Amino acid sequence: MLVAWGAGAILDQVYLFLLLALLAYIFRNLYNLRRLAIWLGNPQFADIPVHFGLWGDIYSKVARVSLRQAQREKRLAELVNEYTASTSALPDGAVALDASGRIRWFNDAASRLLGLQPAKDIGQPLLNLFRNPEMANFVNNPDYARMLQVSAPGDGERKLEVRLAPYGDDQTLLLAQDITERLQHERMRKDFVANVSHELRTPLTVIGGFIENLQMDESLQIDSLTRPLELMAQQTARMGRIVEDLLLLARLESDSVRNLNDRVDIGELIRNVADECQALTDDVPAIDCEVASTRRVLGDGKQLRSVVTNLVVNAINHTSAEQRVDLRWFDQGAQSLLEVRDNGEGIAPEHLPRLTERFYRVDAGRSRDRGGTGLGLAIVKHILHHHDAKLEIHSRLQEGSRFICRFSSSRLVD
Ligand code: ADP
Repeated sequence: MLVAWGAGAILDQVYLFLLLALLAYIFRNLYNLRRLAIWLGNPQFADIPVHFGLWGDIYSKVARVSLRQAQREKRLAELVNEYTASTSALPDGAVALDASGRIRWFNDAASRLLGLQPAKDIGQPLLNLFRNPEMANFVNNPDYARMLQVSAPGDGERKLEVRLAPYGDDQTLLLAQDITERLQHERMRKDFVANVSHELRTPLTVIGGFIENLQMDESLQIDSLTRPLELMAQQTARMGRIVEDLLLLARLESDSVRNLNDRVDIGELIRNVADECQALTDDVPAIDCEVASTRRVLGDGKQLRSVVTNLVVNAINHTSAEQRVDLRWFDQGAQSLLEVRDNGEGIAPEHLPRLTERFYRVDAGRSRDRGGTGLGLAIVKHILHHHDAKLEIHSRLQEGSRFICRFSSSRLVD
């Protein structure tokens, strides 16, 4: 503009020269704008048409931003690919559901296990797939700690374990695991234990009978034989108890024994068991019964008797004659509790979580000496599970133990 003004001044045409210079300036900028619009279609550093001045600056800044954007997109695409590949490699099925329970996405294992097809099933309600009231209840009232066993849709032989996990805004992830093989192994294990126990029953009865005959035979009443025969009788009886306990556990596990119609008076039951135990020998601790509830339990009288006997015998076995055992049946809101408390030797905290495992004993040698099978608490836990009740164990070394059976209102009658 300065040059145009100078030239205009010399030739006395200042306005004309300024106008021409302004037009040239506007034309150049319009031309550059057009080139920018074309270049923005594919902004590359290598193709920048102007490298200097204001336009050069604009080009290089836009090129830098677009390069960064391209790198970010590449990283994101790699991440998405990795994520898709890793979820596809998962052996468990994963199905993402929106707030209304419709399928948004699923991985390869889910299409294999649940028979899902992307084209057909995305956007469909999950419950169209599982026409099962238990599954409907599970999905509609999600409890993220719970797992449910269901048959795979379209393949009744295949069993799945499903669980729900929350994610994002109101979304849920359904995870499905094929447990057919695991269930088969469990069934084989249970059948094996039940069959072995059953097969051992008869030989043990025969051996026990012969030992008893030998013990009664007058001609064999010699010192060198008395003790061995006594030990043989004791061990045979112990083996017999283990076999009977294993058979009872097998029956309890096979869900077929569900005769829960007796109205069991727990108050009377604890008094009976206490009297029986105290009548056994003189060196049992004092057993006190407190019955504060009149509620009865709708259940199996024989099984509940076994619960009380197991807990009371354990309490006696781990308490000296000068100590005491307290039995209590009382209400706590809608629930009723059976408590067996002793102030005996107690149990160290590291053993508590494992006490109800089969054959788990704090001191195996002492348990055997006392005639224990190591199955008592496992049986108690199973029986309580059948009665919708829970076993709670509280104990401190040298202070004593409290075993509480918590019965829910569904099994209680007035
Ligand atoms: P066992 O036949 O050995 O009694 P249980 O399953 O009944 O088997 O009990 C498992 C273990 O729990 C016992 O070996 C014992 O160590 C421990 N236990 C059970 N009840 C008590 C109790 N009242 N006080 C201390 N320890 C106990």
